[in-house]
Amino acid sequence: MKKLYIDIGGTHLRSELVVGSDLLKETVSSQVHGLLSYINNTVLKHPDIDFIGISYAGQVYDGRILLAPNINVDETNIKETVLSRYGKRLEIDNDLNCAVMAEAQYWQSSSVAALYIGTGIGAAVIDTARLVRGSRNLSFEIGHIPYRSAPFLCGCGRDNCIELFASGSGMGKWRHHYGSDQCINFAQLKNSKFGQEQFIATEFERALLQAAGTLVTLANPEFLVLGGGIVEKNPYLLEYLKEHLLLYALAPSLKMLRIELSQLKNGPLLGAKLLEEKPYG
Ligand SMILES: [Zn+2]
Repeated sequence: MKKLYIDIGGTHLRSELVVGSDLLKETVSSQVHGLLSYINNTVLKHPDIDFIGISYAGQVYDGRILLAPNINVDETNIKETVLSRYGKRLEIDNDLNCAVMAEAQYWQSSSVAALYIGTGIGAAVIDTARLVRGSRNLSFEIGHIPYRSAPFLCGCGRDNCIELFASGSGMGKWRHHYGSDQCINFAQLKNSKFGQEQFIATEFERALLQAAGTLVTLANPEFLVLGGGIVEKNPYLLEYLKEHLLLYALAPSLKMLRIELSQLKNGPLLGAKLLEEKPYG
């Protein structure tokens, strides 16, 4: 029996095909390959796949893709389509929901908030060993809480989401607004001698504090785990948050809080492997 696990984001589709004790890994462009067409091709090559678990960088509910501003979607009703076409069980969940399940297992805690900052900023929470989902699987969409107006729009259509400040895509939009599309990373912005670039980095840090403080105040977790590409490349953000979070969160919620950097190589993909059993609901 083979199992196929997929982590799909705005840039890459990463997959792992488990064949007994072997692991076949593949990374392709998610702009070129639609999810359904990728599954079609893989199932044709490996007809004995018996489970497909997917971590998805968008809003998903009940096996359907509701909203994915950054991904080329070739089928929204993905779970039912794959079941009716191939008779295969498929489970799909939001990438942060997948990540927080993997983090809860790693830290062996039943009370974890994951905050991942990369292209976007996302959060998910496990409380009393259950994933907090909300009525439409949209709980803790921290990137889209209202923050401040920006002179451009978020992928969700509004202009005041915190993701416009505290994410890689947000910083890219600010740079574009100031007339530059040259690709530079957060550390370069922070150390830039140009005022506008320093401004973007300072605003990023402030918005990140706001997001983390709001998450901790609302969810009151035992662990706040920081992950995602920007955190991986700028681990100083851990100490920065520890130092300044008191100004952004309710003090008692910080009392026993452990703030940690994610130790997982790909939390969302690891979480996709848990979707078959769903240990956190
Ligand atoms: Zn938004």
